[in-house]
Amino acid sequence: MSEFIRDRSGAMDQVSAAVRSRMMKAIRGKNTKPELQVRRALHAAGYRFRLHRKDLPGTPDIILPRHRIAVQVNGCFWHQHDCPRGRRRPSSNVNYWGPKLQRNRQRQAAAAEALSATGWSMVTIWECELKVGIDALLRHLASGRQSETSRYALTRRRQMCSYQVTS
Ligand SMILES: [Zn+2]
Repeated sequence: MSEFIRDRSGAMDQVSAAVRSRMMKAIRGKNTKPELQVRRALHAAGYRFRLHRKDLPGTPDIILPRHRIAVQVNGCFWHQHDCPRGRRRPSSNVNYWGPKLQRNRQRQAAAAEALSATGWSMVTIWECELKVGIDALLRHLASGRQSETSRYALTRRRQMCSYQVTS
């Protein structure tokens, strides 16, 4: 049986509670298959990471505290990637989904900005470019490893005026 659910914007959406809960889960996108693949690759390469840190802007999917890198693993549809899947638009409830997807995008852009203001960088990996994204992330991390000593000093200084990260 379907029911009406009113969201914060007041829009009415006629979907069953079960479907709705599946949709919301997909939007939040925690522990998605692509995300698990990124985590596996990082783990295999010996990197330590944390998940879904609520005290960082945007609650990044994965963070590497030592490298001050936050990783977002984005579903193409939910974050409107510029690819065939991301350009697809919902055919029903357009008034509901349009603004919702737009907000996803804006929220993530704002989070990236806030992170960078505190000396973190955000790496975005798209679902449709998973392999390329993982390779690029690992290369990026490996290049950071080579200059770990100087990076560590820099990190210590930055912590004075930014988020405290304990690992
Ligand atoms: Zn894509």
